[in-house]
Amino acid sequence: MADERKTLEQRAQMTDIERLRHSAAHVLATAILKIWPEAQFAAGPPVENGFYYDLELDHRISPEDFEKIEAEMKKEIKANHVFERVALPRDEALSMAQRGVLGALGERPSPSKFKLDIIQNIPEGEEISLYRNGEFTDLCAGPHVMRTGNIGAFKLTHVASAYYKGDEKNPQLQRIYGTAFKNKTQLDEYFAMLEEAKKRDHRKLGKELELFTFDDQVGPGLPLWLPRGTAIIEELEKLAKETEFAGGYVRVRTPNLARESLYRTSGHLPYYADSMFPPMEVHETGDQKPETGETENLSAIRDPKSAIKYYLKAMNCPHHHKLYDAIPRSYRDLPLRLAEYGTCHRYEQSGELFGLMRVRSLQMNDAHIYCTEEQFETEFLAVNEMYVKYFKLFGIERYVMRFSTHDPAKLGQKFVDNSPLWLKTEEMVRGVLQRSGINYVEVPNEAAFYGPKIDVQIWSAIGREFTIATNQVDFAQPKSFGLVYKDSDNTEKTPLCIHRAPLGTHERFIGFLIEHYAGNFPLWLAPEQVRILPIGDEAPLLEYARSIQSELRAHQVRCELDGSSDHMKTKIANAEQMKVHTMLVIGNRDMEANAVSLRVHGQGNLGAKPRDEVLADILQSIKDRRA
Ligand SMILES: [Zn+2]
Ligand SMILES: [Zn+2]
Repeated sequence: MADERKTLEQRAQMTDIERLRHSAAHVLATAILKIWPEAQFAAGPPVENGFYYDLELDHRISPEDFEKIEAEMKKEIKANHVFERVALPRDEALSMAQRGVLGALGERPSPSKFKLDIIQNIPEGEEISLYRNGEFTDLCAGPHVMRTGNIGAFKLTHVASAYYKGDEKNPQLQRIYGTAFKNKTQLDEYFAMLEEAKKRDHRKLGKELELFTFDDQVGPGLPLWLPRGTAIIEELEKLAKETEFAGGYVRVRTPNLARESLYRTSGHLPYYADSMFPPMEVHETGDQKPETGETENLSAIRDPKSAIKYYLKAMNCPHHHKLYDAIPRSYRDLPLRLAEYGTCHRYEQSGELFGLMRVRSLQMNDAHIYCTEEQFETEFLAVNEMYVKYFKLFGIERYVMRFSTHDPAKLGQKFVDNSPLWLKTEEMVRGVLQRSGINYVEVPNEAAFYGPKIDVQIWSAIGREFTIATNQVDFAQPKSFGLVYKDSDNTEKTPLCIHRAPLGTHERFIGFLIEHYAGNFPLWLAPEQVRILPIGDEAPLLEYARSIQSELRAHQVRCELDGSSDHMKTKIANAEQMKVHTMLVIGNRDMEANAVSLRVHGQGNLGAKPRDEVLADILQSIKDRRA
């Protein structure tokens, strides 16, 4: 939860830990006021992994102030004050704000100006409440923990600045961040995890292991994959191809751009326009013949003065819908599973770009499954099983599927107006989730416009959360694209469409894997799987080393040979530094015995073994995609 919860309905959904963290924000404000009674507070919501409170104060709070603020907070927690709720009429709340009492320890010479503004924006008829803990009174809708003593452990983390209500026309405030947990152990674990995450940072390891790079002339958010990173991409694509082929998918290829009218049909324009790169205008001359089915924009194409707009695709769905529609379909053709590792471009704001996690160019493990309502359950179950199979392969032990459903009150506005289909598909999805025993939570009112949605959250080996993939049921787009199939009774029907991308995008998934494995990829996924390190540079020894390399390369193993004159210690250190999975050290004695001395990254020296045995095991481990 990154955004502030604005409505009472959203606030009521606060989890226990969010309540605790929001309560800690009240305690933070109390402590700041003990030191700087004139501070003016705005909003103090819980956020992902913590909380903040925005305030206006002449003194610039810096981390050097944290110790004395935390000392005051500890006193508040020790005093174990009750969080007491008081409902009050609007005019009384306004008068309190005028007297400076809200977000304060008592009356003050100047009004509580932000609280005053917030009250004025509370809708007529909505109850106004304040909360007290000890001397501190704040305008707040809650909820909180019972007493300040329930805040087990906390820590202030950093200061940032933020405009009031996020609007740069408003005053700039200081934003003090902190986090809180039920107890000290959890707090310590959290900071230990952050420390470890820093070491595993995909931007840092990506550079050290030569996986990817960014270049100013290419553009921000446009990753360039170096050979070592590309090796990982190709292994993932191979995995997806094999898995999907076995699951009855067929592969397709589509261009990276399309005319504006396609995105008008899909609804990306105008609703998604801000997230797309601006269009290219192309003056198409009038001498081309219209192709079959081409009806829109024809007059524009014929008119040499008017330009046709082309957009880079932000999603693959519209192109796939066109492929469905390219051939007349009957019920016998369904389910039709179209798969493509499609390249998409999205215009993320430059402030939002973050390593591989938020990029402008991405390749998605995409597929669209077109099926009848009767086939839906089987198809959806198979998709979920594919997710779980991948999680097992990558050693992802903790995951949850967030199943987002519609809100009947918002049909026709936030959600496609088709109540029976919503209820039916949601019931089918729920049924599959329950029967397959998958860990899931149901989140009302967060579905996609065109159908129920499942966001898949996974946790890395060090317990950091990533949202990696989305799985959606769509009963609106097939209709807007006029997709049909001829049913057994000869009537035309609209198929359902499942959007799925279990491996997400290469960018995000590899970013996750780098942290998850700390760069120590299993053999099958390792950018450099094997490196041969000859002891010395005599011709027969190098010949023996080369013969091993050729044999492995003939089996598509990414194997390098360090023929440098470096000392063995240096050769090993270089290979270890690049996290090469398997090192084969070769001396004259190994050569004479047709053996190799095996060394595995992270395991050290495993001793001399017969060459054929070691090579066979390497091939088997890759084939089995061993962990
Ligand atoms: Zn509160
Ligand atoms: Zn899609």
